[in-house]
Amino acid sequence: MATHVPRPSNPRGHPSVPGSTKEERPMSLLHHSLQNAWIIRGTLELMSPLHIGVSERGAMGMDAKVVRWPDGRPVIPGSSLKGVLRSFLETVGQNESLRNLLSPEGPPVCIITENPCGREFRKKEDRDKWRRRQMAIPTNGDPDPDDGSRGSWDNLSEEEKAEIDRELAEAIYRSLCPICRLFGNQLFAGKISIPDLVPEQGHPTEWFDVRDGVGIDRDTRTARNGVKYDFELVNPGVVFPLTVRAMNLEDDEQAWLLLGLEALRNGELFLGGKTSRGLGSVRGIGSWRISRMESRGPEDIVLHYLGRDEEEDYEPWVNQVMGRYMSAGR
Ligand SMILES: [Zn+2]
Repeated sequence: MATHVPRPSNPRGHPSVPGSTKEERPMSLLHHSLQNAWIIRGTLELMSPLHIGVSERGAMGMDAKVVRWPDGRPVIPGSSLKGVLRSFLETVGQNESLRNLLSPEGPPVCIITENPCGREFRKKEDRDKWRRRQMAIPTNGDPDPDDGSRGSWDNLSEEEKAEIDRELAEAIYRSLCPICRLFGNQLFAGKISIPDLVPEQGHPTEWFDVRDGVGIDRDTRTARNGVKYDFELVNPGVVFPLTVRAMNLEDDEQAWLLLGLEALRNGELFLGGKTSRGLGSVRGIGSWRISRMESRGPEDIVLHYLGRDEEEDYEPWVNQVMGRYMSAGR
């Protein structure tokens, strides 16, 4: 559970943020202080061959080689898994009743490539305009200290500038949908991290297979006559340890994250290339664990970074978090 700390009062009586519907969202859940932290540890098993190419653009429409760790082990890049989780949550988040269930307040879930949230802050000039509005000076920048305003930016003390920047960061944060708050966007770093996944043990013959591919013409999307090439796959059955770290999650972000991880664990998500042909099927195996730190003071934070948080079973925690959103008896 996120700890809800009252929002600090506004010492200079600035007007509230235009368009804001989340005045009560505590600032502390930005990155300024550590309120809570999760580490989820689990295991993924490949159910079908996996191909994650070394880059997006290969000569034949896909790269022949798969991503490898320096020592030769196959890799599922954490960024690639994050991308899959994100796009799953963006898609299901378009369902309005689901969004109303998990995140009844704040902006709707955006599709980052189409209608990214926080657009009103994207350009520097927009952020500057916002700062001027906070200072209640005319947008033509004409400083007029007699009108009770603070005058131009240059007249502000360092503390006043820092205060306005802090308020801007807060306004940006409130303009973000829960998926952007989790995964980040151009304006915000996001709250979760997933290190690259590499199998613990094995041998190249267990890890990799090579298949014949047919060259696909990039322009016509048709098979090029007679063009054949080999491409590498990671074998089904290869097992990857997974670690997901999250910081300062709000209640709704916890629910969205667990929804995505459960879809992954239950085999709903596909990784890498050629997923329409069944490649990249993956599911969670074994019992997953979670350690949760709820900061009640500096000692909790120290213990967390010493790795002394108590671990618990992940599944009962999922049931507890998601149970908040389920009607009784489900
Ligand atoms: Zn968004």
